[in-house]
Amino acid sequence: MKKLSLKASCLCRGVNFTTKGNHRDVQNCHCIQCMKTHGHHAAYTNVEEQNIKFIKKSTLKWFRSSKRAKRGFCSKCGASIFFKVIGTKNISIAAGMLDGATKLKTIMNIFTKDKLDYYKLNKDVKRFNFYPKKTN
Ligand SMILES: [Zn+2]
Repeated sequence: MKKLSLKASCLCRGVNFTTKGNHRDVQNCHCIQCMKTHGHHAAYTNVEEQNIKFIKKSTLKWFRSSKRAKRGFCSKCGASIFFKVIGTKNISIAAGMLDGATKLKTIMNIFTKDKLDYYKLNKDVKRFNFYPKKTN
């Protein structure tokens, strides 16, 4: 966890927000749902949802992607922005939405069981077939 204050926005800037407080380093998720949503693996940081302050969210829409989670996207430019497990206090933010230097680093690959064969994983980054226990 890193204490940071960051800015983030989608491609059209219809969704534009700041984050503060503890940020989890980035996890690359290779699950089928992230692949379909992002067009490639996802790269997410994670914060307490209360630490997000929206400057603009007029184009933010939510898609209930499974029983347990929903995904936030921009209905104008199509950017995949958020992953939210319903009923939890945290929210994942697609790291590519961050503007400027993030001070974050990529710490693990998760759900690598679903990884497609057209790309290779960085050998220096830990990998887990599913979601590892005792990390967040
Ligand atoms: Zn947008």
